[in-house]
Amino acid sequence: MKRFLPVACLCALALPALAADIRSDRIAESVKTMTSDFFEGRAPGTVGEERTVGYLIGQFQALGLEPGGREGSWVQPVQLLHTRLGEPTRLGLEVDGRLQPWRRGEEVYVSTVRGDDRVVIDRAPLVWVGYGVHAPERGWDDYKGVDLAGKVAVFLVNDPDFEATADEPAAGRFGGKAMTYYGRWTYKFEEASRRGAIGALIVHDAPGAGYGWNVVTSPQGENYDIVRAPGKGSTLALQGWISGGTAKALFEAADLDLAAQRRAARRDDFRPVELEKLRFVAEVPVEHRVVLSHNVLAKIPGSRHPQETVFYGAHWDAYGSGPADAQSRTLRAGANDDALGVAGLFEIARAFKAGTPPERSVVFGVWTAEERGLLGSEAYALDPVYPMETTVANLTVDVLQTRGKARDVILVGVGQSGLEDDLARFARAQGRTVTPESLPERGLFFRADHFSFAKRGVPVLLMMGLAGASDLVEGGREAGQAWVDDYTGRCYHQPCDAWGPDWNLQGAVDDIALLHAIGDELARSRRWPALREGSEFRPLREASAAQRR
Ligand SMILES: [Zn+2]
Repeated sequence: MKRFLPVACLCALALPALAADIRSDRIAESVKTMTSDFFEGRAPGTVGEERTVGYLIGQFQALGLEPGGREGSWVQPVQLLHTRLGEPTRLGLEVDGRLQPWRRGEEVYVSTVRGDDRVVIDRAPLVWVGYGVHAPERGWDDYKGVDLAGKVAVFLVNDPDFEATADEPAAGRFGGKAMTYYGRWTYKFEEASRRGAIGALIVHDAPGAGYGWNVVTSPQGENYDIVRAPGKGSTLALQGWISGGTAKALFEAADLDLAAQRRAARRDDFRPVELEKLRFVAEVPVEHRVVLSHNVLAKIPGSRHPQETVFYGAHWDAYGSGPADAQSRTLRAGANDDALGVAGLFEIARAFKAGTPPERSVVFGVWTAEERGLLGSEAYALDPVYPMETTVANLTVDVLQTRGKARDVILVGVGQSGLEDDLARFARAQGRTVTPESLPERGLFFRADHFSFAKRGVPVLLMMGLAGASDLVEGGREAGQAWVDDYTGRCYHQPCDAWGPDWNLQGAVDDIALLHAIGDELARSRRWPALREGSEFRPLREASAAQRR
């Protein structure tokens, strides 16, 4: 039987109010400003950066926020290392004493994050380590104590259960099709470096990586990292990918069958194999320089618990300029990615200032060098102004759909934290539902700045419109998918990611309002959202529980 509730009761059902005045005209204005010629496409270390940082500070100041950096500063300096490989004198595989050169771009793609003048790897042994996963909490260790010091690790992309059938030991141990952090190439390079390897090569396959070889090889031989403290940098002189064809030949030269080895790697009794007949050889000049860049930090101090922080983030950087597109546009100014997110933060800051002061501090981090590998947020996380242990949550905006109102909001990283319940509750108050991201195997959860916090055990939420097809009020999910396909296929990281008169920001306004409401409630409560049982970062958060009492 249908039950009717008197309308007056709805508020008593604890459906929270989303009263914040988030306005699309102001958002559009900020996006248009940040993507104008004056900002030159907002590349780190350029005049464009200087102007962008000045603009961001001006906006936060005008909104009545305080500097959020150390010693009353609006910025946190970030030193970036930029490297570019020159033409190798030698690069390839030595089989039985004979060098088989590898063609860069076709057979191998390598780069370095070390600031040395020259990469020299002289006949280093290679070790096949399967998926290269060390996950004690899942009872999985591909290394079995093998010594990688001074050697080159060869591994598969994604995690051991990505291709596993139900009867194989790996099945379901790593979230099924969804990618865990163990599946990301970043994790594999980090793990190889922890074990002292001198090189790391991932076998490319398009389904496992989530993208084709063309994405791996662009741009040629360039890389960025943070300038690390002495002894804290990567041990890897070269890191990169080999194509599926190269891998097949490499395994054949070692008298192994790649297909059989892939199957073996899906077993927890997999053991690494030293590829005894093979040696890796590389001699490559490196151009390197240090680029000084900046994160911008602004805060609203908490009135009662200022040492507890609700953190909002977006990134200011984009790609500067490049070759002209068909419409002669040269700036790759990231209108959606992520000027729109930054504009959203201004609206959230404004909404906080319009209400009574929050009890916990609310901090806004506008990051540099997200497009170079989440480096600004990573630099912050390595040297946090506000301790990670008492950061209540990180709420990040990076790309929102621009096709108007949606009946749902996309959740990236299902099963990570209790913030999912907050998202569902506040979405319901907007008359919306939550839709899980459509391709969790792509690992989008690990590919935006919130992840620098997630890695340190902070509960996070990411608003990312390209993570799935929104159910648009006009045109439904089909129209939502068409937007995702068009944006990712045509505009993502290209001059085409520009503000257009066809933008309809009503859906983005809802997403921003949602993120404001979630943070606003947290900033006025004593609640600490928890990480879920299945989260690979839960043990870390639990270890610091005492600091949140
Ligand atoms: Zn982005």
